[in-house]
Amino acid sequence: MSEQTQADTEKAAGFETRAIHAGYDPDPMTGAVIPPIYATSTYKQDGVGGMRGGYEYSRSANPTRTALEGCLAALEQGERAFAFASGLAAEDTLLRALCKPGDHVVIPDDAYGGTYRLFAKVEQPWGLEYTPAQVADVDAVRAAIQPGRTRIVWVETPTNPLLNVADIEAIAAVAHEAGALLVVDNTFASPYLQQPLSLGADVVVHSTTKYCGGHSDVVGGALVVKDLEVAEKVGFHQNSIGAVAGPFDAWLVLRGLKTLGIRMDRHCDNAERVVAFLKDHPAVSQVIYPGLEEHPGHEVASRQMKRYGGIVSFRLHAGEQKALDTCARATVFTLGESLGGVESLIEHPGRMTHASVAGTDLEVPADLIRLSVGIETVEDLIADLDQALA
Ligand SMILES: *Cc1c(COP(=O)(O)O)cnc(C)c1O
Repeated sequence: MSEQTQADTEKAAGFETRAIHAGYDPDPMTGAVIPPIYATSTYKQDGVGGMRGGYEYSRSANPTRTALEGCLAALEQGERAFAFASGLAAEDTLLRALCKPGDHVVIPDDAYGGTYRLFAKVEQPWGLEYTPAQVADVDAVRAAIQPGRTRIVWVETPTNPLLNVADIEAIAAVAHEAGALLVVDNTFASPYLQQPLSLGADVVVHSTTKYCGGHSDVVGGALVVKDLEVAEKVGFHQNSIGAVAGPFDAWLVLRGLKTLGIRMDRHCDNAERVVAFLKDHPAVSQVIYPGLEEHPGHEVASRQMKRYGGIVSFRLHAGEQKALDTCARATVFTLGESLGGVESLIEHPGRMTHASVAGTDLEVPADLIRLSVGIETVEDLIADLDQALA
């Protein structure tokens, strides 16, 4: 498993080359260009302890998962990557690998709902304390850190659904000064648009369910780690807890990664056209997109992202009922949760993805709509929004 492979030599190659080749060399026996789905739980040993390529049992390692993990590490410029059954499984494993009861973490005050629930209802009862902070404000993050006790500063950028932008480089400096690690949930940007490890982050988290998989056909998660000491802890916990990606799921995500670059470019092209349309629409009171100059995070996003992504949020003058009606009337945009697939999705965060934070500081405006702009023909997307808003 550890021999120098063709994939290793491609570490320096361009993003799309790594996406297509890293993690797997054509099978020496058959020449298969694509890794098989190794549907096996165990491996024949050549004499006791005589493992072939280090494979012993598929919770510990499976060749299809190894291929995915190699590709993810290459795309995020990390030392090692680990694939999990879901984004939340990856997060839970990371927290238990790096923290112990009594430790403290800083989390985004608008964290992904499932992440917030994990901290509030699972990790806190276990003994991990957390403080929510506005991650777009470096001073607020600094103020939330408890030096000596804070193990992790956790950041999402851009955030969901208001697309706030955190300055990864600046927050890495603040976290490291206090002896904490910086973890970045890079799900919204994907490794194509943003590579947090090269900006100073220590660990990248992905829900590979979203852009990495990209086809809304798999639930998965990943951690990519910069240093070997952290990698060892994460690897130990991945095997000990066992929330690993199965071989078919790993295969689907790996297949998705091959087209990540061209998909993201089309997501961004289409999102930019949709933003321009919504900006001019009389029913729309505000368009939220980091690519807009008036977006408060525009300057930071321009520095740390290649482009601004496929998620667009907007608000309506006429209020909540109009927002609900617009979601219901869309036909090319599918009304549904999740994001990052080739198909366009529309949703009402207040009643759907963010219903659980109603009445709290995390409440989102009732007239807000979130789009995950897909890669369909953009004229069809704009025509659909036009009729839905009419
Ligand atoms: C979906 C999502 C998660 C959780 O991932 P699952 O694969 O659903 O467990 C975490 N963070 C962000 C930003 C997400 O969008």
